[in-house]
Amino acid sequence: MRQKMVAGNWKMNGTTNSARELISGIKAGLDGPSAEVVVCPPFVYIPTVATEIAGSAIKLAAQNMCDKDVGAFTGEISGPMLKDSGCEYVILAHSERRAMFGETDEVAARKYAAALNNNLKPIFCIGETLGEREQDITEDVIARQIDAIINAEGVASLANAVIAYEPVWAIGTGKTATPDQAQNVHAFIRQRVANLDAGIAESLRILYGGSMNPGNAADLIAQPDIDGGLIGGASLKADDFLAIINAAG
Ligand code: PEP
Repeated sequence: MRQKMVAGNWKMNGTTNSARELISGIKAGLDGPSAEVVVCPPFVYIPTVATEIAGSAIKLAAQNMCDKDVGAFTGEISGPMLKDSGCEYVILAHSERRAMFGETDEVAARKYAAALNNNLKPIFCIGETLGEREQDITEDVIARQIDAIINAEGVASLANAVIAYEPVWAIGTGKTATPDQAQNVHAFIRQRVANLDAGIAESLRILYGGSMNPGNAADLIAQPDIDGGLIGGASLKADDFLAIINAAG
């Protein structure tokens, strides 16, 4: 039985005060959630959030990391630093990183390896653009993206990772994949992993991300292969985030 997960990707939003307020609002409304709850603040707010969540069920993730552990890499943040700061998870290969910061499958695979080497669990993002969906190559794109990490690190590495299926056309657009559309891709991902290792596939959590909100979360998460959500915009409001957590629980 896979535990559901709801992860909030705050992206480049907030201040020290708003981060504190958001965590305090989430903590106040958390009612022994059965889903695993993760927040992913910007790097600079990680220490503040780590302090605020201490003693609660909320877990901490970063939104990105460097593929190197230490050295002359100005402006980068390493896996050992994230671990040292209390992160358990790290979002990798988000489509915004792929599209705006040139992260190729190869870079994503290197970061995936570095995260695992540092005992950080990757929340590894994959997803097709609108153009790719319209060309009917969604499955080719998804297969290429997941194969990049399986080929580099082996299927067994997925035992310590979470996959987030995030159709690029649904991120921040208010257009959500229908439960059927999302389920079809999630089932494809699980089957691709199952072709290599049925046990790993069965325990692998696959989150949906892309304009998930309190109104659509329950129907999406009710699908057999959708194990929770990676939430952007709706994770910035405690009430909305809590409603999604409750929908998952
Ligand atoms: C995301 O960026 O991971 C995301 C799912 O964003 P949103 O919920 O705002 O579409």
